Parts: sequence; structure tokens; C-alpha cells
Amino acid sequence: MKLTTLNDIWMKPGLTADQCIKCNICNTACPVLAVTDDFLGPKAVGPQFERFRHPRLPIPEDSVSLCSGCGTCSRVCPHGVSVAEMNSQAKARLVDQNGAPLRDQLLSRPELLGKLNRRWAGAANQALKIPLVRQILESTLGISKQAPLPGFSRDTFRDRHPERCISEPPETEAGLVAYYHGCSVNHYEPDLGDLTLEILGALGYEVVLPPQKCCGLPLQSNGLFEAARSHAGSNLETLQPFVDAGIPIVGTSTSCTLELKHEYQAVLGLRGVAYQALGEAVADLFEFLLGPASNRLLAVEFEELPLRVLYHAPCQLKSHWIGTPAFEIMKRMPALEILLSRSECCGVAGTYGVKKEKYGIARDVGQKLFEQAQEHAVDFVVTDSETCRWWIRHHTQIPSVHPAALLAVSMGLRSQVLE
Ligand code: SF4
Ligand code: SF4
Repeated sequence: MKLTTLNDIWMKPGLTADQCIKCNICNTACPVLAVTDDFLGPKAVGPQFERFRHPRLPIPEDSVSLCSGCGTCSRVCPHGVSVAEMNSQAKARLVDQNGAPLRDQLLSRPELLGKLNRRWAGAANQALKIPLVRQILESTLGISKQAPLPGFSRDTFRDRHPERCISEPPETEAGLVAYYHGCSVNHYEPDLGDLTLEILGALGYEVVLPPQKCCGLPLQSNGLFEAARSHAGSNLETLQPFVDAGIPIVGTSTSCTLELKHEYQAVLGLRGVAYQALGEAVADLFEFLLGPASNRLLAVEFEELPLRVLYHAPCQLKSHWIGTPAFEIMKRMPALEILLSRSECCGVAGTYGVKKEKYGIARDVGQKLFEQAQEHAVDFVVTDSETCRWWIRHHTQIPSVHPAALLAVSMGLRSQVLE
């Protein structure tokens, strides 16, 4: 079959296997292969094994399960092989064959966990700090007792802003932004959502909150494609009126925005112009600030920020192919000393590092990053994705923050960096 468009390639990653010339570049770049001999590497588990994955026969091997889904291999491949995407699809077929453990069923539903634990968030958060509780969770479910788990919020972000929750776009769309906050801001980091409203509000935007569900990336990463597709369908339905009205959909998690932009189509195989239009309407907050909002941002006189920070671009951000917009904006902040991460990946890859059998691999992947942050005694590690922040904070004991936290201070909206 002749591949003619990028869209064809996205829909059927396996079809790109024959483009592999076995150059080994992906193996050289894979952060998991660099730390463990148990993983056969992207060249083998991707294009090489894909030829043995007959659509109607069981998948003969499970080594692909050690792939973290960081996406590095697809980015570096000079021949356009969609290695990470075909690995995700192979993992989903393994889950179809063998089922998913209860642990993965739970970890892949952060929205449900957030809802269930909201009422007694304080007690649940305290309980998760008790070593015996963590030991029991590890022995019974396989959730690493060492891995950082996020704290549940007592109130949701949406509950804080009911007046902004609308299901249809208003008549006047000028200066309107629809915020895709996702489940992490709604249930775990509502303060980051507040900060985003303040930043966009100060730039003259009116921000609304369309109905939305978890993007589905955790389900997808755990091979639960049908449930992930159900989330995608629900998000398409509720976001489409805003897309049709030409309202930008802006997010603060580079993982969620990548899911909406790329993974619905490229990994979950959801076709059609509606998904394409949704993908094109979505932007990361800093991509939006450096793009459509750039003139408004240029009018802002940034205040001095005498801090030393390490900026780490998450793997999921790199897969947007938009460069590092947060870094570009941070460079404009006077007195801010920025070191750039020398590591490809922090290791956690969403829920990957939380699993008992993968915690050590994920820690080793991030080790150089942790050492770099500690060696240079930075005030903050700055990174755009929530699971990276929780993971880096846990391993370095250095506050790890979203770039919006620095921007808010430099814009004079806050006196302290939100941790
Ligand atoms: S980088 Fe691409 S072409 Fe080279 S071995 Fe990996 S998949 Fe094959
Ligand atoms: S997605 Fe990441 S971990 Fe998986 S094979 Fe590719 S580079 Fe390695």
C-alpha cells in the first residue's frame, strides 16, 4: 500500500515499519534502553517485531511492555517510522489478549480517583504518607511504595469557577479562550488553573471552561484503548462547538494537549475532519502566548526574577514539534538564570514510573537530570507536565514548578512562585 499523506501514516503506524533501514538511531536515543538490558529497544520491539504482529493472531512477545511511550524514537527516526505509536498499539493488543491488572485499571483513571477521594481528601492524602499503607498498596496492587503520588484536592477547579463553566460558546467570541484544564488541574492542582486564569485575564482574554473529561492518555498508555476512545469521543462532542466557533482551546499540561492534538488520531486511530479540527484548535498555554497572544505579551514589562532555575522540556512537549515556547518566554524575564536540562526524559512517563516493576528503570532514566538540578543548586526545576514535576520534586527535593508560576511573578500578578 502506498502511503501518500502524513495522515495515512498517523492512522496506521505499523505501515511505516518497512521504512526502517536499521540505522540504530532510535536505539541510541531510547532512554529506557540506556538503563536496562531487559528492554530490547525500539528498533526490535517496533518495526522489527511489527512484522510478526498479524492482525488476527496473538502477539507473540511482550517485551514492548517496557517501552515507556516517551516518543523519543519517533522523533529521532530519520525515515519517519512511527515507532512509539506502533509500540502503543502493540501494548493495547497485549492488554486485549491478556487483560489489564487492577493496578493499571486504577492508575489510568485519575479523574475517577480524584472524584472518589475529594470528600475525604485530607485523610486520603495523610494515609498515602503512611509507610504501612504504601507497603500494602505495593504488595497487593503493585504500586511502588517509593513512587510519588499526587495529593487529592478538596475542591475542584471547576467548582471554584462555576460562572465560567459553559457548554455553548457565547455570541461574542473575540478575546475568548476555552481552557482545557484536564483532570490534573481539576482534581490535583486547581491552583495552577487559577494562575492560568490570572495570566490570560491580565492579557485581556476572557476564559471559559467547556465541559470536558480526562483526555484519556493514562488509559491509552495502559493499553485500554476502548475506554480512551470513549473519553476522546466525549471530549470531541463537548469541545466541538468551541472549535467550530473558532475559539482556541488552551491547555497547561503538554501531555493532555498532545493527546488531543496528535494521539487521538495517530495512536487511537480516530479518523475524520472533526478530530483533525480539534487537534488544530488545541495549543499549549505557552505556544498560545508565543503565537496568537504574542503582541499582548510583548506589551508586558516583565519584572526582575533573580532566581536560578533548570528548565526541563517534557518528552510530550517535544512531540508537539513546537520547540520550547516556555523557555523562549522565560528568556525575556530579567535576572532569571536558566540552565537547560541535558536529559531527554525524566523517566516517569505518566503512570510508568509508579509501577513497582518499573520504578527503578524510571528513576535511572531521570538520574542525570536529578544530579544536574542538585549539582547547580537551582531554586526551581521548571517543567510543563504535572507527572514530571511530581517525579522530579520527589527525586531532587527541589521545588518543581510549571513555567506559568514564574510568568505570573514576572508579570507582577503574584509575589511568590506557586509550588
Ligand atoms: S531510527 Fe528509524 S530507521 Fe533507524 S532503526 Fe530506528 S526505526 Fe529504523
Ligand atoms: S517510546 Fe521511548 S521508551 Fe519506548 S521505545 Fe521509543 S524511545 Fe524507547
